[in-house]
Amino acid sequence: MKLVFASSNSHKINEIKKFLPENIELLGLNDIQCFDEIPETAETIEGNAILKADYIKNNYGLNCFADDSGLEIEALNGQPGVYSARYAGEPKDDNKNIDKVLFELHNQTNRKANFKTVICLNLNDKQYLFTGIVNGSIINEKKGDNGFGYDPIFVANGFDKTFAQMTFEEKNQISHRAKAVMQMIDFLKNNEY
Ligand code: IMP
Repeated sequence: MKLVFASSNSHKINEIKKFLPENIELLGLNDIQCFDEIPETAETIEGNAILKADYIKNNYGLNCFADDSGLEIEALNGQPGVYSARYAGEPKDDNKNIDKVLFELHNQTNRKANFKTVICLNLNDKQYLFTGIVNGSIINEKKGDNGFGYDPIFVANGFDKTFAQMTFEEKNQISHRAKAVMQMIDFLKNNEY
């Protein structure tokens, strides 16, 4: 079975390929000649994952999945959430986003936050959602150089270093994205379609 991942990031595609059952051929957007600006205009992380997966299904008629992620901060009522990538405005700038979060949380004692990934899978006219969450907190200053996005200010519960101080492998064992991906892979391995 061919399955499209609504991403053109070959690194992300290859990571997932490693875990899929052998009967599934994973294709990226480039493989199906899709170079469109896929809409990401929903107001929730779930909504964006669904929009992207539905775009591929409706325009290309293929089984597919899409993911969307974000950082949700309790004291900011779940912000930046679906707006994580561009929290400090256009163009997208990870450092400015971090500075904005630290500014908003200045003098705030509630530092609780979580990263969330939702994957929407459109398979043979049915839709499935998989959610991965990692709980943690926002520290007061940036630490570490690895990773991307808000990694330098996020410490997962039970750990004493930020995501940016972890190796790719360490982060991948506990991350929101890995949890959502593994749920989908378990589903694909254990169900008939
Ligand atoms: P995307 O949906 O995976 O593109 O994630 C949207 C935005 O959420 C990113 O641009 C980052 O700002 C933030 N984000 C998502 N996942 C992570 C992560 O693992 N570490 C740090 N930031 C993340």
